[in-house]
Amino acid sequence: MKICNVIADLHKDILFCAKNFIKKSDLFFEYFADIYKKGKKMAQYVAKIIILGSGPAGYTAAIYAARAGLNPCLISGFDVGGQLTMSANIENFPGFPLGISGAELMEKMRQQAINMGVTIINDKINEVDLLSSPFILSSENGNCFKTQSLIISTGASAKWLNYEAHKKYIGHGLSTCATCDGFFYKNKVVAVVGGGNSAAEEALYLTNFAAKVVLIHRRGELRADKVLQQRLFENPKVEFQWNNVIDEILGEKNVSAVVLKNVLTDEKKKLDVDGVFLAIGYKPNTDIFKKYLTCDVDGFIITKPNSTQTNIEGVFAAGDVKNSAYQQAVVAAGSGAMAAMEAQRYLSNTTQK
Ligand SMILES: Cc1cc2nc3c(=O)[nH]c(=O)nc-3n(C[C@H](O)[C@H](O)[C@H](O)COP(=O)(O)OP(=O)(O)OC[C@H]3O[C@@H](n4cnc5c(N)ncnc54)[C@H](O)[C@@H]3O)c2cc1C
Repeated sequence: MKICNVIADLHKDILFCAKNFIKKSDLFFEYFADIYKKGKKMAQYVAKIIILGSGPAGYTAAIYAARAGLNPCLISGFDVGGQLTMSANIENFPGFPLGISGAELMEKMRQQAINMGVTIINDKINEVDLLSSPFILSSENGNCFKTQSLIISTGASAKWLNYEAHKKYIGHGLSTCATCDGFFYKNKVVAVVGGGNSAAEEALYLTNFAAKVVLIHRRGELRADKVLQQRLFENPKVEFQWNNVIDEILGEKNVSAVVLKNVLTDEKKKLDVDGVFLAIGYKPNTDIFKKYLTCDVDGFIITKPNSTQTNIEGVFAAGDVKNSAYQQAVVAAGSGAMAAMEAQRYLSNTTQK
């Protein structure tokens, strides 16, 4: 009764979550209180399992955890649905024979999670303490979460060139994923930007579809492995624009051309292309965890082999946030399922101890 009075005072979305917690399990919902700090209403949540991120990895982990009776709480981040929402058509996620838009696919996953009873909170974690037990998470909205186990599925963000200027072309000719979108460029002319292994691999992959692939690189030589360079040089479909960067992307709705700028001479020229693939790297969303978790040189979380277990017991990483050669939605979903199953095992072992 006392708790209900406190809850009644809270913001609508928090009220919804609180009702859910109480309805479902008093084990999961140990206490819920509003406290005032810096004039902001805050809530404290205590959970058995919290999942960070609302991409394919996060939603799948949440669905599995809910099915295991763990009453998971998923904190969505502010980019609800994750990277896939940027893609107009997903043709390689099984179960959708005619393809599906990224936004619709992610909305279906969200609905499925809600139907399973997952509590979804629209908030973003900005600080963690992974040495305390339970783990403590603080959020942008001023909430505090305590949890016995944690699944990190905060994904990665592709690096874009001049994101603000170019964002209207995402899904309309501008992509960061040849495996995802290459198929749409049969017999077309595409540009790939970058000079490392990813750019070389993307360019070679695109030669399976495109009539011509123009590799645009700001230097006079590639950084990619020699064997990949050799394959590029030998492929008649590949052309190079050395010492060039994209100054501008042109096109009414869809990409129709780029303006190249030579970094040595400042000379500009127009190049007609149907698509532009950026392969200039990914940045994992791991800044707040780096103090605690072992990451590779690029900041991706390292997990134990064939596992989602990080170097801290009870903390798991799934999807694009962990170091993997396969940054695809179906792989992220698979590793979300693994993380939930491993977390379930961890929780039942720690409860038995
Ligand atoms: C343009 C584009 C097209 C693509 N097309 C395809 C395709 O056709 N097929 C395919 O298989 N793959 C495709 N991909 C790749 C695919 O989107 C990713 O592999 C997949 O989304 C990874 O899922 P994830 O759950 O690991 O992370 P993400 O989808 O990146 O989701 C991460 C989530 O974490 C949240 N988050 C971040 N930080 C925090 C925080 N501090 N606290 C709480 N939450 C946080 C974000 O809000 C987001 O919801 C595409 C990617 C892009 C960019």
